[in-house]
Amino acid sequence: MNAVSIDVAQINADLHCHSTISDGLLTPSEVVHRAKANGVELLALTDHDEIGGLAEARAAASACGLRFFNGVEISVSWGEDLTLHVVALDFDDTYVPLVNGLARVRGGRDSRAQRIAAELERVGIHDAYEGALRYAGNPALLSRSHFARYLVELGLARDVKAVFDHWLAKGKPGYVSHPWATLPEAMDWIHGAGGIAIVAHPGRYRLSRADLRALLAEFRALGGRGLEVISGSQSGDETPEFADLAREFGFLASRGSDFHGPGESHVDLGRIPPLPDGLEPVWRR
Ligand code: AMP
Ligand code: MN
Ligand code: MN
Ligand code: MN
Repeated sequence: MNAVSIDVAQINADLHCHSTISDGLLTPSEVVHRAKANGVELLALTDHDEIGGLAEARAAASACGLRFFNGVEISVSWGEDLTLHVVALDFDDTYVPLVNGLARVRGGRDSRAQRIAAELERVGIHDAYEGALRYAGNPALLSRSHFARYLVELGLARDVKAVFDHWLAKGKPGYVSHPWATLPEAMDWIHGAGGIAIVAHPGRYRLSRADLRALLAEFRALGGRGLEVISGSQSGDETPEFADLAREFGFLASRGSDFHGPGESHVDLGRIPPLPDGLEPVWRR
């Protein structure tokens, strides 16, 4: 494995972001160049259920002297109807069970997208499947983000965030539940590939403290090592709570912007707070 060992706690590491290979707006090379320009010192590209952008990103990072980890953000179904996002880092991206497992997860996305479109049709939004597809850089990875961009185009909401609030979030008309990977299988793929598993944006699941603890305990029992303590997709107020959880569970701490693109993400690559003191960063494992 190409483990990078860096003995600096407070380097500008951004270990969570997206490209056009999933629902980001920039190509993998553009993501790398923007990260470099923003002062990022260690980058991981973590497209949803997709590792097809890693070779391009790795080459671009090498060419501009930016340290790089392989990454992916795996969609996992947990409990009744929770979609958990597990970020995997620093794995062998040729490991066949991982490659095949991700292909299977992606394979479910097209029929899910058709079900989303059918639900939107019921509330009078036509041709959403075709509309979303026009925004997808990778037709194998149709995401709710692509639907959101189409609904903004239709003038149904001001921005992508508002589309989720009104149409696409759980409980809204265009939400459909979907079976993603199970947590044990995702963990097997990651660990078999020599990678490290991290619970992404713990603030996004709207879990009670007790349920979040139960999730973290199960994740740790399956060999999970990391918690994303700093995420561009959560508010700074939550940081002390997640830092405490990382200490309590003995997790390594990760840091990522969850950048999707200029104009759409409020937080740019590398422009996130430092890890709180006293946490062991994932890049020191
Ligand atoms: P999917 O994997 O198709 O369910 O899409 C999930 C993606 O939708 C996330 O990775 C985000 O990029 C985006 N997303 C989910 N919820 C929101 C939200 N409330 N506001 C903006 N984007 C969101
Ligand atoms: Mn996304
Ligand atoms: Mn996510
Ligand atoms: Mn993400």
